[in-house]
Amino acid sequence: MAKITIKNLSKNFGLLKVLNNIDITVQDKEFVALVGPSGCGKSTLLRMIAGLETLSAGDIIVDDTVVTNTPAQRRDLAMVFQSYALYPHLKVSENIGFPLKMRGLPKAEIAEKVENAANILKLADYLDRLPKHLSGGQRQRVAMGRAIVRSPKAFLFDEPLSNLDAKLRIHMRSEIRGLHDELGATSIYVTHDQVEAMTMADRIVVMHGGIIEQVGTPMELFDRPKNVFVAGFLGAPT
Ligand code: ADP
Ligand code: MG
Repeated sequence: MAKITIKNLSKNFGLLKVLNNIDITVQDKEFVALVGPSGCGKSTLLRMIAGLETLSAGDIIVDDTVVTNTPAQRRDLAMVFQSYALYPHLKVSENIGFPLKMRGLPKAEIAEKVENAANILKLADYLDRLPKHLSGGQRQRVAMGRAIVRSPKAFLFDEPLSNLDAKLRIHMRSEIRGLHDELGATSIYVTHDQVEAMTMADRIVVMHGGIIEQVGTPMELFDRPKNVFVAGFLGAPT
């Protein structure tokens, strides 16, 4: 997939400074979690990477291309939201194929890509069902399918599991990480759940009040937290 570089990024909403001088490099095939308390700017940052929000300063670079002013649909990055972001009136196959239909791909090509994604996600037997007749885990897989069919340069996850019950959430952590490995993907994964980040990510970016407190592997952060905030955040119960 691709390497993603965030350079000197800042974001204000009017007088509200939401992000300050953020620098992050996500390597090709890396799984990086962005963690931090609610309101610290995680979703805003992810939306800027996706091209859904303008920057106040800085750059977003995909491989060697500056995409700061490139529209979202030409960045080839796939956002994955909570499972309830499915279209309730569309069948599983139509939900998965939706981004391709929007692009105007021929029907046969859409069908082939949907089938391929459904096989990877173990959804082949459910293609004719409506989302309301699926389990929570299956719905989450459909949301993943919609991202996979586009063959994106990276996956951008915004708290994709926060809508699921505790048991399923734990199961889906390993499913998503397994899929990332299987596809050789590059993933940026936003969560406020430090356990999720610790169990899934190659590296974790700990954010707080619009700045980065620390970046490291789960082990590095656990063994050598840079400050009281990082230690407290990672040690707090879910
Ligand atoms: P997180 O995802 O970490 O919970 P967000 O990125 O959603 O945080 O929000 C960070 C801050 O930016 C919050 O104070 C939020 O209220 C503010 N914010 C987010 N989007 C907007 C917007 N479109 N206009 C004004 N303020 C916003
Ligand atoms: Mg958020």
